Amino acid sequence: MSTVNYTEIIFKIKEEYIKYTRVNEDGSVHFTLEMPVAEQVCPHCGASTRKSKGKRPRDVKFGAIQHHTVTATYLQRRYKCQECNHTFIEKNPFVSRYLRLSKTNMEYLFRQLGEKGSFTEMAKRSDVSVSTVIRYCSKLAIPKPAQLPTVLGIDEYKGNADGQIYQVIITDLRNHSVVDILPKRDTRALIQYFKTFS
Ligand SMILES: [Zn+2]
Repeated sequence: MSTVNYTEIIFKIKEEYIKYTRVNEDGSVHFTLEMPVAEQVCPHCGASTRKSKGKRPRDVKFGAIQHHTVTATYLQRRYKCQECNHTFIEKNPFVSRYLRLSKTNMEYLFRQLGEKGSFTEMAKRSDVSVSTVIRYCSKLAIPKPAQLPTVLGIDEYKGNADGQIYQVIITDLRNHSVVDILPKRDTRALIQYFKTFS
């Protein structure tokens, strides 16, 4: 099986976006990605344009597959709106603005929050440092649910909020989703939390 086949399925990188592929001796893979010129909608005025204004390289971390890291240099194209003269970056399926983790890698990282595991393991699987995992996870605000699911999962969760080593993760077992993460795992904190629901 070629690298490209599962690259598209797992990392959502289409074959036609790959300019170069480099497979290193340690098995890690590095892509050079570029998207073709396509019609873009100006985010400032809504006009359409195809006027490309050059490309800028961005480093993207896609995570790891079978312990081999997958990284990319994404040559992100800029466009110039001919109506309002603003320049803007193209829309892309790989990475969000200002971030270095690919979209699929972020999804993967957050999916791991529902599983038991340490930040160290999460970091390893996503090919980032532990501090990056913590930084991304702390950005993730889980809104307090309006009501609790019928079947609740309560488990300890290894984190570092509020100076506590263990937090409590509350999950919806039927839908396999995270309901909330509570900073303390003592009984009183749990009772206080559940008291807020009718
Ligand atoms: Zn415009």
